[in-house]
Amino acid sequence: MIPVRSFADRRVAVFGLGRSGLGAVRALKAGGATVFAWDDKPASREAAAAEGAQVPPWQDWPWSELTAVVLSPGVPFTHPRPHDVVLNAQEKGVAVIGDIELFAREIRPQPALSGLSPVIAVTGTNGKSTTTALIGHILAATGYDVQIGGNIGKSVLELAPPRAKTIYVLEISSYQIDLAAGLKPDIAVLSNITPDHIDRHGSMENYVAVKTRLLKQTPKAGLNVLGVDDSHGAAIFTRLTSNGGAPTVPVSVGKVLGRGVFVLDGVLYDAQGERAARVMDLRSAAHLPGAHNWQNAALAYAAVRRFVRDPRLIADAIVSFPGLAHRIEDVGRIGKVRFINDSKATNADAAERALVCFPDIFWIAGGRPKAGGIAPLAPFFPRIRKAYLIGEAAADFAATLEGKVPCEMSGTLESAVVAAAADAARAELPAPVVLLSPACASFDQFKDFEERGDAFRALVAKLSARPQREAS
Ligand code: ADP
Repeated sequence: MIPVRSFADRRVAVFGLGRSGLGAVRALKAGGATVFAWDDKPASREAAAAEGAQVPPWQDWPWSELTAVVLSPGVPFTHPRPHDVVLNAQEKGVAVIGDIELFAREIRPQPALSGLSPVIAVTGTNGKSTTTALIGHILAATGYDVQIGGNIGKSVLELAPPRAKTIYVLEISSYQIDLAAGLKPDIAVLSNITPDHIDRHGSMENYVAVKTRLLKQTPKAGLNVLGVDDSHGAAIFTRLTSNGGAPTVPVSVGKVLGRGVFVLDGVLYDAQGERAARVMDLRSAAHLPGAHNWQNAALAYAAVRRFVRDPRLIADAIVSFPGLAHRIEDVGRIGKVRFINDSKATNADAAERALVCFPDIFWIAGGRPKAGGIAPLAPFFPRIRKAYLIGEAAADFAATLEGKVPCEMSGTLESAVVAAAADAARAELPAPVVLLSPACASFDQFKDFEERGDAFRALVAKLSARPQREAS
């Protein structure tokens, strides 16, 4: 844990007591602050009280004596409208900040310390977790003490305090950027921008502005790494390079860049020097399949380059990356049939990334539907041998697939896995794949996408154990 000493002997409040909120309570208490806390859930308040916080209703906090309110990123700060606690703080002149701001103030109490324990901050619409984990993996493989957190794994204040060779690698959501004006990353990475969470940011323009802000916070001696394949990234690149801030490395998959890092036909090139140097063939990285992962790998490469001088060491680490659970994750093979868990694909866009990776797919899809359904996936229907539909979206998906892809109303994940495994085993295909890539949220049948993916993995394990038991 990183104790927050900058609020010692002062009164601070924490609103929203999820993992990051409770982490903030603990770190503030450890640093000697008097902490007030609130969450609508009584169990969360009890947990905060057990950490030494006082938990009167937020309206009864000693507002005139509060130094700051630490807001959970899940609580609306600006849109659709600020939460009442935010309005109240603004009215009383109390600063509203996030746990990442607390982290930033502790890690960088003075600008002179910049350069010690560097911070790499990763944001973007898609690929944040993969890029963050990959950066962490490369740096750990090359001898750094890597602390990975933020929107992935541990909250920032739960990370270890800096030691020799510590590098912090943080995944930052747009909500967290809103609350972390003091974060000055040594390296900021913006993967890509497509419409998402517009409800929470008011408009696409605001969403883009928030993402861009993180890159503008990078000090001049730092570095920005920016995906330029979408129109927003390209426009941000033009703006950043003309405003005299930190240098920016553009990253592209499919375009040759005069200066930057790019991928052509799966081969990664570094054109930051005099001429483009071939770094590696990304197709040798088994756990980074698909062009979207080539983008993640190229971003990670550019981000770590200042810390790892030899590109071959980076290439070796990219090849040995084990991948992240629930994202095109290979969870086993039974005979010739491979089973792929892509439970994280909660919309059609994400499912497309998996469908492009395999030629003969037995596809398990459905759950709580998102707007637009699976109609945009029509170009990939020819790869799908059969679909096994589950959850609330089943009937809608069946209507979209009718006449194009054979389907079965499986209802539950278990029936879908059993049927898909049997059909795939029987099919006269060299490399059939049973793919869970639901293009839906999981909440109708599961707690979250992780539970859905874990259930899939367990069902595959049960199936693969069966023949051996029968044989013995
Ligand atoms: P995030 O943390 O931003 O949600 P993840 O790394 O967890 O991103 O990936 C989530 C899903 O997003 C993946 O399963 C994949 O479908 C898609 N994805 C990952 N990386 C990219 C990328 N660079 N561009 C587009 N889509 C991506």
